Amino acid sequence: MIFVVAIIFIVFLVLEIIFLKKFKARYFREEEQALLKISSLKEQNDSLEKQIKSLESEETAQFLFYDLARKIAPSLNKEEIFGLFAEEIKHLGGIEKISFGQFLGAGNYFKFDLGKYNNKDQALAVKTASKRVIEFLPLFAKLLKLCLDKIKLYEKIQRLSIYDSLTDIYNRRYFMYRFLEEFERAKKFNLNLSFLMVDVDHFKNINDSCGHLVGDAVLREVALRIKESVREIDCVGRFGGEEFSVILLDTEKSGAIMVAERICSKIRERKIKAFDEQLTATVSVGVSSFPQNTIHSDVLIELADKVLYKAKVSGRNRACWF
Ligand code: GH3
Ligand code: MG
Ligand code: MG
Repeated sequence: MIFVVAIIFIVFLVLEIIFLKKFKARYFREEEQALLKISSLKEQNDSLEKQIKSLESEETAQFLFYDLARKIAPSLNKEEIFGLFAEEIKHLGGIEKISFGQFLGAGNYFKFDLGKYNNKDQALAVKTASKRVIEFLPLFAKLLKLCLDKIKLYEKIQRLSIYDSLTDIYNRRYFMYRFLEEFERAKKFNLNLSFLMVDVDHFKNINDSCGHLVGDAVLREVALRIKESVREIDCVGRFGGEEFSVILLDTEKSGAIMVAERICSKIRERKIKAFDEQLTATVSVGVSSFPQNTIHSDVLIELADKVLYKAKVSGRNRACWF
């Protein structure tokens, strides 16, 4: 009996050991799998955190970009734009130095070409070791270049709207604007002001005998010589085809006559080179002065025109006045 009980006990014991082993193995397998899952979840979490951080940093940079664009876009002044840019981009962090212009620095400088401004190369140079700054810099540099291009375009349009394209002196519209402004100023402050109307003599003959291109070159040279005969502060404009006008600031009649005669002799005395031609040109000039001749701006121009006709009929190549 005892023997039978012992056998049964041993069988149970063996069975339990087998069962326990199996159970243990399963338990350890599940534990191992759970641990693997935990570590994979941890990895996923780390990667998500990284992504969130990078998105946050990108978002900050995008806000900064938007803010910077909003601030610098309305400006038409290069120095102001550079100043604002330098101020704002520091918010990216990690910028040691920033400079503009013809920069040739060495070291950790990142340089971006911004094109030419007033015939000088412009560049943005940033000293940084920050990966983030390095990543965003090209975008910010593009924004800066766009703003500079806009200024250049604006200045070009402004110049085109003021200057005559053939002679590079004021066009009639801008000249008249300046004339009325200066006339009002002379009136207000009791200053003298004189007006000259200059007309190239027998210009049609030059066109007819040498061609319009030579005629154009003569007009350019006449405009240049008129400019060289007056002061920086005086205004020279193209009034019409081969007619030029001059505002002589703070100048009374006798001074204006001297300038008119200087213009006549400067044009008459030196031959004009135009392509293969060497030409002699002459001009006639009408002089009128405020307040001696009139106190009305339109009459001042009319009088200069009338007296120019007098110079024409009395032989050309001279100045006449009232
Ligand atoms: P006057 O001595 O009486 O002033 O005679 P003129 O031949 O100079 O005057 P006219 O008014 O008879 O002729 C002016 C000419 O100027 C006619 C026109 O074709 C020419 N002209 C006007 N604008 C231009 C231009 O931009 N280029 C050229 N080449 N010719 C022009
Ligand atoms: Mg004329
Ligand atoms: Mg003429």
